[in-house]
Amino acid sequence: MKVVIIGAGAAGIVTSHVIKQLRPDADVTVIGREKSIFIRCSAPYVLAGIDSIGKCKKPDSMVTGAGARLVQDEAVAVDVKKRTVRTKNKTFRYDRLVFATGASPFMPPVPGMDLKNVFTLRTADDARNVSAALKASRDVVVIGGGMIGVETASLLSDRFNVSLVEMLPYILPGFDREFSERVREALAKKGVRILLGKPVDKLTGDGKVRAVHAGGKAIKAGVVLVSAGIRAEHDLAGKSGIRTGKFGIGTDRMMRTNVKDVYAVGDCAETFSMLTGKPMQSGLVNTAVIQAKVAGMNICGIEASFEGALNPTVTEIARHALGCVGLTEDQAKAEKIKYMVGRSETLDKYDTQPGARPLTTKLLFDGDGRVVGAQAMGSGHIVPGIINLISLAIQQKSTLGDLLKLNYAAHPELTPLPFADPVVLACENVR
Ligand SMILES: Cc1cc2nc3c(=O)[nH]c(=O)nc-3n(C[C@H](O)[C@H](O)[C@H](O)COP(=O)(O)OP(=O)(O)OC[C@H]3O[C@@H](n4cnc5c(N)ncnc54)[C@H](O)[C@@H]3O)c2cc1C
Repeated sequence: MKVVIIGAGAAGIVTSHVIKQLRPDADVTVIGREKSIFIRCSAPYVLAGIDSIGKCKKPDSMVTGAGARLVQDEAVAVDVKKRTVRTKNKTFRYDRLVFATGASPFMPPVPGMDLKNVFTLRTADDARNVSAALKASRDVVVIGGGMIGVETASLLSDRFNVSLVEMLPYILPGFDREFSERVREALAKKGVRILLGKPVDKLTGDGKVRAVHAGGKAIKAGVVLVSAGIRAEHDLAGKSGIRTGKFGIGTDRMMRTNVKDVYAVGDCAETFSMLTGKPMQSGLVNTAVIQAKVAGMNICGIEASFEGALNPTVTEIARHALGCVGLTEDQAKAEKIKYMVGRSETLDKYDTQPGARPLTTKLLFDGDGRVVGAQAMGSGHIVPGIINLISLAIQQKSTLGDLLKLNYAAHPELTPLPFADPVVLACENVR
């Protein structure tokens, strides 16, 4: 079986691993147009000087070590009738084809985006170019107050004058206002100037960008980072006659496109919410990895199904760990889902321990008492645990009653007090 995978990001690499594991005899070729495999999530830390580009680039053996072939080239045409992929240099025949082409940053269509020192952040080259430009500038403007924009603004504010412009009246739309407002305050304390509710009108400069204009203000800019969302890379698939939707390449739950033996996984694929069933864009690596496993298994004849995205997300912003999964209260309202909320305020360690810090947890339950969402803010070691626990609970359709019976561990340095587990306490406080 000849398998060709277009894209050497997380989705493409994991698909190749699964296929080689299940069918060592399969002839698997991964075509990637970037010069190296790059851990994108670390890019903000590269700009902040915490990680290096070298450490975030992974060797080709990540693909070849599992027995697949890695070709550095760009796929330019797919013929689904002849079952071929043409790259700039060669034509490959396939029995199964996987689109894992990822996404590209969205650039708001305003004047001045083509000025020098206006960047997006996705590839190793982007990280290198931004890092170089930052050496000659003090004033950074981040456009976009989503998770990546806010994380990057926070990290850069230790060394630069950072401004953040967001067209919505709040940052972090994946969270309810009580959390995003606390992050806004923490960022402001770090010196980040935040302009909310104003779309960017234009960028101006003299070849190089000098100012970002929004809401009648001109914000001084030496470097501009555009973090205004992503668009699925689905052109190649679309041109090959593969169905695409608003958020990317259309697939069924087995990650099959409408064309026989052609699959799509990761950021390039339109996905759907596990909770509402509605089409959506995930844009997260956990969705990409699960879809890759599902596609890899189906390609090898083991039936598997993707059950929808929950988008568990964690980040660290201004030294606060922050996480969410499933629906927020705002989203439940918008979806007209009846809901109940449980909150807890605890410490992340026993109150006897030095350095104990506050931890806020909010849980959302639907009208039947099923947990449908969680948000948490506090200390780094505990927030991902809460988010992953609730992610599984949502998948398992767990109820308030189930979570109240949670059998949890307690330890002075590692958890809140035994009678103050953040999840159980939030369940006890459901209104
Ligand atoms: C700055 C940043 C921080 C992030 N942080 C997080 C995080 O903390 N947590 C999280 O869950 N997610 C995070 N993400 C998102 C995560 O990186 C993506 O969800 C993940 O990379 C998706 O994997 P993918 O393989 O689908 O796409 P990509 O990683 O985009 O890989 C697709 C690859 O296909 C290549 N390609 C496209 N077209 C062709 C072609 N025609 N021929 C050959 N190759 C092609 C692309 O160049 C690319 O290398 C972050 C993203 C960014 C940009």
